[in-house]
Parts: sequence; structure tokens; C-alpha cells
Amino acid sequence: NYTLKNKRALVTGGSRGIGAAIVKRLATEGADVAFTYTNSPDRAKEIAEAVQALGVQALDIQANSAEASEVVAAVEQTVEKLGGIDILVNNAGVAQLTPIEDFTLADFDRTFAINVRAVFVATQAAVKHMQEGGRIINIGSTNAERVPFAGGSVYAMSKSALQGLVQGLARDLGPRGITINNVQPGPIATDMNPPEGEFAEMLKKQLALPRYGTVEEVAGMVAYLAGSEAAYITGANLMIDGGFSA
Ligand code: NDP
Repeated sequence: NYTLKNKRALVTGGSRGIGAAIVKRLATEGADVAFTYTNSPDRAKEIAEAVQALGVQALDIQANSAEASEVVAAVEQTVEKLGGIDILVNNAGVAQLTPIEDFTLADFDRTFAINVRAVFVATQAAVKHMQEGGRIINIGSTNAERVPFAGGSVYAMSKSALQGLVQGLARDLGPRGITINNVQPGPIATDMNPPEGEFAEMLKKQLALPRYGTVEEVAGMVAYLAGSEAAYITGANLMIDGGFSA
């Protein structure tokens, strides 16, 4: 009972963390999966091999989301090698947590290039090739709704930008039968957000469910949104945050 059989997916930032779990879950559901990475070729190879072991195609692409041309090339390579694209997951992201006095313009621009501009660029490139039933899923953040700590302003702003993007693009893409949504996780145990330490303890106090979430929990929500059962969900900002924003 493979829900994504014969679907072709591209996941940005699929070598580690939430993205790697999404790659594996989509492949488990029968999809052929391409994914990008920047700095972890060894991790990327491991993930690609895990996907191939499931009997579907894997394609690891080194592409820096900060460079628009590399993002477009990743989409084009996916279409060429997998024969099309049905699912785009914009997952690659960076979290620079720095107080306003010390936040450099270079870090501001990098945050926006990766977390915002690359999402627009990949989506624009992918929808050229998508048919009816296409799916675009962004990994936003619960911090688009609630930021209960200092230093998170630019990160939160970048994730709030995705809310406007999906609401607007739902209108552009709806007539074509393509959906676009944001998945907004709370604290998820990854390299970006290790579940131990002072910062983690502070975050845990904000949760209704007093634990970090897992990458598999987020991947499950993405797999649901990618499938045909989710055909009536679009323009939505969906929390998976242990009640962080409640
Ligand atoms: P990680 O830092 O653990 O992993 C990030 C992944 O994205 C890696 O595969 C990395 O590749 C890739 N990546 C980073 N920068 C780039 C780039 N410039 N171009 C291409 N790929 C890139 O992060 P998470 O898994 O924790 O986060 C994934 C997404 O989820 C992000 O958008 C993040 O903002 C969001 N999120 C995370 C939360 C959390 O608590 N963890 C909570 C809410 C949202 P490489 O291995 O090559 O470096």
C-alpha cells in the first residue's frame, strides 16, 4: 500500500535532520526522491543508499540554496533524471539566533537567501513542470507565530514570510490543482536544535507536551500532505509543535 508510488519528489536540505527523515519517508511511500545538500557529501551518500535499498530511485544533488542558479539547476536535474516533479519539499534552512545589536547584514542576507528566496525560486522552477495533483510543502517554524526568546527575530521573520507566500501562491496554483502548505514544527531534535542544554531546557518549558519532537513525526505530516488524501488542504500553516504556540 504505497501512497506515493510513481511520484517524483525533490527535498531541499535532505542530508541531515528533518530533511533526511522526509527523504526516507517519501521513499518508503514509494516515491523516487531527489534531494539537495551543501556541506555533507558523505551523509548525502548514506541517505541516497538508504533510499535505493527501498527499491526506488535516489538522486543526491550538491546545490547551495543561497545561490538561485543552483536551486533552479537542482529542480531541472530532478525533472531530467526522474522524468518530472510531483512533490517539492522546501526544507533547507538556517537559524542564526543573534541579538539585534550584533546581527550582521551578511547574516541577514544569508538567512533570507536560504530560508525565503530559495523557496520562491525552487517553487517557481518546479511549478513549470508540475501537473494537476502537484504538491509544494515548506518547512516553516512555530516561531512564525511565537518567539518566546531573544535573538530569534530575523529567523522568525524569515519563517513568517513563508506564511504570506503559501497563502498567496495557493491562489495562483489552486486552479491547476496544485496545493501549497507550510508545516510549522516546534523544537525537533536535530543538529540545528539539540535536545539538551540551557536553550533546550528553556524551550521545553514552553511546550504543552514536555519533550522535543522527532524528525519522523514531522516527516509523517509531510508524507500525509504529499498524498492524495490531503488534496483539499492548501494555503495552510500547519503546526506540529507540541503545543509550543498554544
Ligand atoms: P539541520 O541543520 O539539522 O539540517 C539542515 C539541512 O539543510 C542539512 O541537510 C543541510 O545540508 C541543509 N542545508 C543547510 N543549508 C543549506 C543550503 N544553503 N543549501 C542546501 N542545503 C542546506 O536542520 P533541521 O533539520 O533542524 O531543520 C530543517 C528545517 O526545519 C529548517 O528549515 C529549519 O528552519 C526548520 N525547523 C527546524 C526546527 C528544529 O527544531 N530543528 C524547528 C522548526 C523549523 P548539509 O548537511 O550539507 O549542511
